[in-house]
Amino acid sequence: MGRAPNTPYAASRYSAGGDGPVQQTAFIGQAATRRRLLGGALMAGGALAVPGLVRGQVLGTPSLVPMRLSPDQLVDMKCCLRPLRAAGPNLGTESVGGKLVVHNYGHGGSGWSLSWGSAEVAVGKALASLPRSVAVVGCGIIGLTSAVVAQRYGLDVTIYARDQIARTRSFRASGSYTPGSRIALVEPAGPQFPDLWEQMARHSWRMFRTMLGLPGEPVRFGDSYAVSDAPIERRTWPADPAITESFATAGLPRQNSEFAHLDSRIADIVPQAVPLPPGENPFGMPYATRSSQMHFNFPAYAAILLDEFFGRGGKFVNRVFHRPGELADLPEDVVIHATGYAARDFWGDRTVIPVRGQTGWLVPQPGVNYSLRYRNVSALSKGDGIVIMNNNPDLGDMLGVGDSMELPNRAPIEEAMATLAAIFARSAGAAA
Ligand SMILES: Cc1cc2nc3c(=O)[nH]c(=O)nc-3n(C[C@H](O)[C@H](O)[C@H](O)COP(=O)(O)OP(=O)(O)OC[C@H]3O[C@@H](n4cnc5c(N)ncnc54)[C@H](O)[C@@H]3O)c2cc1C
Repeated sequence: MGRAPNTPYAASRYSAGGDGPVQQTAFIGQAATRRRLLGGALMAGGALAVPGLVRGQVLGTPSLVPMRLSPDQLVDMKCCLRPLRAAGPNLGTESVGGKLVVHNYGHGGSGWSLSWGSAEVAVGKALASLPRSVAVVGCGIIGLTSAVVAQRYGLDVTIYARDQIARTRSFRASGSYTPGSRIALVEPAGPQFPDLWEQMARHSWRMFRTMLGLPGEPVRFGDSYAVSDAPIERRTWPADPAITESFATAGLPRQNSEFAHLDSRIADIVPQAVPLPPGENPFGMPYATRSSQMHFNFPAYAAILLDEFFGRGGKFVNRVFHRPGELADLPEDVVIHATGYAARDFWGDRTVIPVRGQTGWLVPQPGVNYSLRYRNVSALSKGDGIVIMNNNPDLGDMLGVGDSMELPNRAPIEEAMATLAAIFARSAGAAA
């Protein structure tokens, strides 16, 4: 809505005080006056638009509320296995006990991000046999999205699963649009895979954009900052000739260059990181970049999918399968199989490789809508909490490969929080 030129309005900024951000308000007569005041403030080194942390703990351009990163804010630790398949997700079909089984599992670190595109492919294969109904085995993000897509095509759907989404590995992810994360290995995936991946990534992106701005913000964008003491460059992973083993000989990837890195194929739709000049760097660090990143708020997102699923007459049956042959008992003739990492044991697919990862979860901080990365550690603020990660930049995609231990380890999370807290302290010091 337009504002009348001379109407008083509020120029506001945040000041962290007490339990949360407090809005400070200055009423200014008209836009020209405001511009003059801002200019004056800038020249005088005042607080309104000065880069860096402003007294009263307001970060500069744009004004950022500092994150609270003390250990008392840590309310959860989650550990999870990315279901990496060297050849990329299994979207093949087979016949079991007279049923057409369409696989939809093995999405590595990209399951949320590729869910809509992957479901479109799987449901398309299910529709080829003209069923009226379909069974979906699994209710993680892949199974639930497949179920909803099948319903939108007019099918009756029953989900059979050991757990509903909130209790699945999907809820132990971090929750950003990362469609190229540990999704496949170059050689085993073959030359056709990048096209399929791009199709799934673009379709999913389009679908997520229809969920922006909904109540509860199931999908939203946030600024993503990376800061550094040295110029920030995109890391590449040339093959190390000293490493002679590979997936082909060892059954596991042995170095980063074996992983497919496909993100550049969608660089035209996904915001890219740009270097920040000193005047726009809100942190007291010599180098910074900023991009916009899409995030998923898991509870809000799951609620929307479950509402649609049950609203369209979907049924959920709590059931554990022990062998593929048990699918023959189901009343449906077509089954979409979406058990994620569990397919390794349930379906006997030993090509599913565990890639362990863990996150620490802080109390949500609603005034904070950005993420910060420094070296190996990051903090990502979403509606459902602040996600802390501590990765090893020298290991890259190899971190956690082959590790199926799902118990969290608190020490690296606390270390990450301390490292990032020091950056906020340094920023405050630089601005004082
Ligand atoms: C630390 C970490 C961070 C991540 N961050 C992201 C991210 O930011 N963005 C992103 O896109 N991806 C991310 N991922 C990857 C993502 O979490 C996975 O790709 C995704 O969760 C896989 O979903 P799924 O539905 O295939 O499997 P799951 O979530 O594991 O669901 C499997 C379903 O099958 C059921 N099931 C299993 N076995 C049986 C059985 N025998 N009988 C009956 N039911 C069974 C389960 O109960 C469950 O309902 C991350 C992963 C990790 C580890």
